[in-house]
Amino acid sequence: MTNRDRLRHLNRELVGCRACPRLVRWREQVAIDKRAAYRDETYWGRPVPSFGDPSAPILVVGLAPAAHGANRTGRMFTGDRSGDWLFASLHRTGLANQAESVGVDDGLELRRVWITAMNHCAPPANAPTAAERDACRRWMEAELDILTPRVVVALGGLAWSACLRVLGDRGHPVPRPRPPFGHLAEVALDGVTVIGSYHPSQQNTFTGRLTEAMLDAVFVRADSLAGRGRPPGK
Ligand code: SF4
Repeated sequence: MTNRDRLRHLNRELVGCRACPRLVRWREQVAIDKRAAYRDETYWGRPVPSFGDPSAPILVVGLAPAAHGANRTGRMFTGDRSGDWLFASLHRTGLANQAESVGVDDGLELRRVWITAMNHCAPPANAPTAAERDACRRWMEAELDILTPRVVVALGGLAWSACLRVLGDRGHPVPRPRPPFGHLAEVALDGVTVIGSYHPSQQNTFTGRLTEAMLDAVFVRADSLAGRGRPPGK
């Protein structure tokens, strides 16, 4: 089975997941209540599948779908301000064919990048519980098995900690104490490098904590470490 088939199969399983009762209730209630601006749209309201290039050497890890963003559109980071920033940066750095990301049929294609998240369901107040984070890590583990990425980009401190924890549990030699999160922080593990990036949330982009140039620098570095020009898997 090809990576594409395996990832498609995984996503098909994922969208039926109901392992976290609180998140199931929330994602479905938001899809009924809707935001006034989107009242004529049919919300996705289910676990949001990962997407991207099935041969990607770069795995981007976000936190969780936004209630009226990915929980509405059904695609990671699609339909919210964080996604506007993320995809614009991926486009500028040659990792996406376009900057716009408004819906699943908008023609967006990623190159060398696969986007996943710590949680695939929108949580109340953007805050999954520890148990919900633990329940959802099986999906990222399965993606790591399939993709064996050379670079993992962690968007935000929580994703940074989660990535180091998951990779450590999978036998990668994570230093002790764990390296602190920072923008462009980097940890080279056995065969995979984790890069930290401030999350492109409005909290960071409105305040200037994260600029376009800073986010671009993360993906330029990731692509360089992933060996741009090398065939996938080499
Ligand atoms: Fe399943 Fe993850 Fe959604 Fe929990 S957050 S219901 S584990 S997909």
